[in-house]
Amino acid sequence: MPNYAEKYARSLSDREGYWAEEAQLIEWQQQPQKILDYSRPPFSKWFTGGTTNLCHNAVDRWLKTQADAPALIYISTETGAQETYSYAQLHAEVNRTAALLQSLGVARGDRVLIYMPMIPQATFAMLACVRIGAIHSVVFGGFAAHSLATRIDDAEPKLIIAADAGSRAGKVVPYKGLLDEALALAKSPPQNVLLFDRKLAPMPMQAGRDVDWETLRAQHMNASVPCAWLESSEASYILYTSGTTGRPKGVQRDTGGYTVALAASMRDIFDGKPGETYFCTSDIGWVVGHSYIVYGPLLAGMATILYEGTPLRPDAGILWKIVQDHKVAVMFSAPTAIRVLKKQDPAYLNKYDLSSLKALFLAGEPLDEPTARWISEGLGRPIVDNYWQTETGWPILTYPMGVEECKPRFGSPGVPMAGFDVRILHERTGEELATGEKGVVAIVPPLPPGFMSTIWRDDARFVETYFRSIPGREVYSSFDWGIKEADGCHFILGRTDDVINVAGHRLGTREIEESISSHPAIAECAVVGVADPLKGQMPVGFAVVKDPAAIDTLAARLALEGDVMKTIDKQLGPIARPSRVYFVSVLPKTRSGKVLRRSIQAVCEGRDPGDLTTIEDPVALAQLKDVVAGK
Ligand code: ATP
Ligand code: MG
Repeated sequence: MPNYAEKYARSLSDREGYWAEEAQLIEWQQQPQKILDYSRPPFSKWFTGGTTNLCHNAVDRWLKTQADAPALIYISTETGAQETYSYAQLHAEVNRTAALLQSLGVARGDRVLIYMPMIPQATFAMLACVRIGAIHSVVFGGFAAHSLATRIDDAEPKLIIAADAGSRAGKVVPYKGLLDEALALAKSPPQNVLLFDRKLAPMPMQAGRDVDWETLRAQHMNASVPCAWLESSEASYILYTSGTTGRPKGVQRDTGGYTVALAASMRDIFDGKPGETYFCTSDIGWVVGHSYIVYGPLLAGMATILYEGTPLRPDAGILWKIVQDHKVAVMFSAPTAIRVLKKQDPAYLNKYDLSSLKALFLAGEPLDEPTARWISEGLGRPIVDNYWQTETGWPILTYPMGVEECKPRFGSPGVPMAGFDVRILHERTGEELATGEKGVVAIVPPLPPGFMSTIWRDDARFVETYFRSIPGREVYSSFDWGIKEADGCHFILGRTDDVINVAGHRLGTREIEESISSHPAIAECAVVGVADPLKGQMPVGFAVVKDPAAIDTLAARLALEGDVMKTIDKQLGPIARPSRVYFVSVLPKTRSGKVLRRSIQAVCEGRDPGDLTTIEDPVALAQLKDVVAGK
């Protein structure tokens, strides 16, 4: 078996040969005629002429060998629900849902907007869409009306599928009212809304528009809807980026390339095997949920866990209890979840039998070294950081646990995956930088299978946004800073717009955050650049401590602040020392766990914090305002 280095080198030197072989990981109705069509750079079209179906490969193909094996395990610590669907049962539900969609006039190429909580019906809806060739666009449940309306206007769905409510940390989050508001705001709302009633919140139905899921499902119990054989480049879905850096972009994904890339990633990165259980704690509203709650594990014939709940309820051991109870082999979560657990009793990490677990993968934001070390020691399992974006569909950088034995380096998301020609470039000259030098993480096209095909209905914006920022070179910019070290491991140093200019010195906020996090009293932190009349900008830090009782006096807070400053002086030098490090109980984050640095910066500079519809907890920003004002 070739090792990582050989495989990776071949994926670039013999792209078509490499991916022609990988294409055989999935079933095609008609084999691809051309492996890569790169006749219109920078657009890559993979496996053209081939016809396949994502739902066929995720569900139907397993009926032959493992119809009775578990496919979907639903666990809600919010409602107490627990349901297991075998591949055969999942197949039946997806057929019913597909028939139901057809009865509402949904056809191949139509968009279907899914605005749902973490319930099995959301998964049925996604799979049913791809089954009939409709293009789903899942919008994270709980997005406010305005954000939802913008996405409705951009995707122009034929149908919206929603539910009465979600539930988060024991509190019902009603959806229906928000949805009605969004529909009133939208310029071209769809004719129908399909609603699943969980009976958590009132769900007033609008006659002629709203239809009830259960009533319609009952009419299609024996439905059998054949898979639509899509040409490889036909769209499977649209997913809007988080919008951390501005107007969300409708990332459009193809069918064949995505299916092949995910299947390959399941084998090479996650080492997932049929019959094993995969547990991803993300949400179906994010790309991680698309790729590794729904499609990836099913493409690998695994059982996938759909979890509605937080890492803390009923107690901080819940994630590990799920691992034990369902013999989870592969787990995927986010650094933010681990940092939440770091504030809890570490005894929870040893309370359950985790012998089934091969590795814990973490992605979505920088995984600081202390957190990686803490969880790795606590679990006694490899912790595998992986770096990617909504745009890329699957990890750009990580450790290929299924290819060879890897010892992940703490703080580094590892090495490039097959087909990703990753370079570190100078942001102004486009020059390739030497090992150890900091530059923009760029990917030289052609982009690998699974990568976004374009921005929905806006090829020009795709090229303009991603391929024009590095002078003189038509390469994909990730808009993240990175470094490659001599052993090939990369480090991600934050976003290119998260750089502070202190008296002419350019500092990455990520580096200062790493330094603050390395202090033993700190659980997590954020650093932003704040306008300063003398120095241009000054870093300002916000930190959450592990033990709030230890800093309940002003003297204790000042002492800790001084101590944190000393740590930064020692590690980075006094130039990186923030003007202040404030202590807060919670950081303002998006619901996907990303720190809202721009809003924090605005608050520090006395400006309007901007669009906060994606904020997890509005109290966080109010508290931050108070500490900055000295209250
Ligand atoms: P938008 O593009 O709309 O501003 P977003 O970039 O926050 O939204 P995502 O595509 O979900 O939306 O996030 C991708 C970004 O998350 C990456 O570009 C990177 O900044 C960060 N990221 C993801 N994984 C890692 C990781 N393992 N280490 C460091 N940063 C990461
Ligand atoms: Mg982004």
